[in-house]
Amino acid sequence: MTHPAQPIASHFINGEYVEDTNGTPIPVIYAATGEQIATVYAATPEIVDRALSTAKEAQKAWAKMTGTERGRILRRAADIMRERNHELSVLETYDTGKPLQETLIADATSGADALEYFGGLAGSLTGEHIPMGEDWVYTVREALGLCVGIGAWNYPTQIACWKGAPALACGNSMVFKPSETTPLCALKVAEILHEAGAPAGIYNVIQGMGEVGGALVTDPRVDKVSLTGSVPTGKKVYAAAAEGMKHVTMELGGKSPLIIFDDADIDNAVGGAINGNFYSSGQVCSNGTRVFVQKGIKEKFLARLAERTGNAILGDPQDEATSFGPMVSENQMNIVLGYIEKGKEEGARLICGGKRADMDGYFIEPTVFADVTDDMTIAREEIFGPVMSVLDFDTEEEVIARANDTEFGLSAGVFTNDFSRAHRVIGQLEAGSCFINSYNDAPVEAPFGGVKASGVGRENSKEAIKHFSQVKSVYVRMGDVEAAF
Ligand code: NDP
Repeated sequence: MTHPAQPIASHFINGEYVEDTNGTPIPVIYAATGEQIATVYAATPEIVDRALSTAKEAQKAWAKMTGTERGRILRRAADIMRERNHELSVLETYDTGKPLQETLIADATSGADALEYFGGLAGSLTGEHIPMGEDWVYTVREALGLCVGIGAWNYPTQIACWKGAPALACGNSMVFKPSETTPLCALKVAEILHEAGAPAGIYNVIQGMGEVGGALVTDPRVDKVSLTGSVPTGKKVYAAAAEGMKHVTMELGGKSPLIIFDDADIDNAVGGAINGNFYSSGQVCSNGTRVFVQKGIKEKFLARLAERTGNAILGDPQDEATSFGPMVSENQMNIVLGYIEKGKEEGARLICGGKRADMDGYFIEPTVFADVTDDMTIAREEIFGPVMSVLDFDTEEEVIARANDTEFGLSAGVFTNDFSRAHRVIGQLEAGSCFINSYNDAPVEAPFGGVKASGVGRENSKEAIKHFSQVKSVYVRMGDVEAAF
């Protein structure tokens, strides 16, 4: 019997599902059991070409609609997503293995927020009037054209919407390629957008591995590439986009610091560290995986952390009582287990977890290492799993320097009851998305993105509009034209 997660077809192009079984089969594995629940097929060159030419053509009429008309469609799509939240969350859980307890509140709902927010902004995108004596200049905020979105596997619905909503609001069309690990959810986003009234060809989804991503990024018809992925992939995609002088947004990885001063509320700080390391089983780019704890409170912090981490409920992710799911894939599980072994070998003190859970699926116990030093592999490299490194520090000056000593710069957090210190420290941290007495909030109203190797550009907020549009300026002369001859 066909599993309910099996999509109607692999791709969504020109307003309809399209199948082409000539492409490489991509098995969809449910991470909680290891069973294959669906199959999609990678896009063949013919499918890539069809998606791009359709999107290129459809964009012209879409850009000519008023912003209010486009926005209405996006807001209608947001409503449909909210109405179907349960069904979409179940699918997200099959796609990623994340527990339903999370997906019910963090995925389709976050996607709907983006559609609603950018739908609301669409009618307000204007240029400006610049007086020049009797003459004047006016500016027009125009669409870029055809945008490509390439997604990572941790938030397949959210990423499809965070890229699609601002792109469409500005009058662009999109071809979106999900990660081959989680190909299911973006198809639903496309389906819902079209049900809400998006013209055929405005938002297309095609499947495939890096090869298909590469074909999209190098195609001359594409005006912009927005990638969520790892730093090595980001470097490749950025370079390929530069070759064609395309616009880019790069949302890449991190190894973010979470700094806890000795005057912080311990339970709130422990809560922040849990949210910043174990949500989505640690598969979150902005995670605060280097937890710097001031020496005076270290043992108290660790004891409370171990106690609360022990409350995690590992189990069937479709059961709402489960609060901690598996790694997205066997491959990712093995990568994370490798890092845990490195942590042990390099002398970090294991506080809890530290192994694969004794159950079906790709579960790893939530793991905390203490006495981690800056040079250890687990403190330097992005793990993308439930592995928290606790490091200790003495002074503010010291911890700022150590926090910044990384190639990454996505996020940073500070817990303290001294607000002058909180702002002083945040002001010196090299990161794009920061938190004071909190961690990992990502509302659509706030810009999201990194500095240094963690990325280029911003998603969400009004900032995203700048990255999906460009400004044309028009000089208007009222008098005669003077010329040298
Ligand atoms: P990858 O970088 O491996 O892949 C990201 C996407 O790019 C996938 O769809 C992948 O396809 C595609 N891709 C791979 N190679 C190329 C290429 N040469 N040209 C075009 N596209 C290509 O990341 P993961 O999927 O493994 O996701 C985890 C990473 O994503 C982590 O490092 C994490 O930090 C980062 N991330 C960043 C976020 C942010 O907003 N800053 C948010 C979430 C994750 P395929 O995998 O199908 O081969």
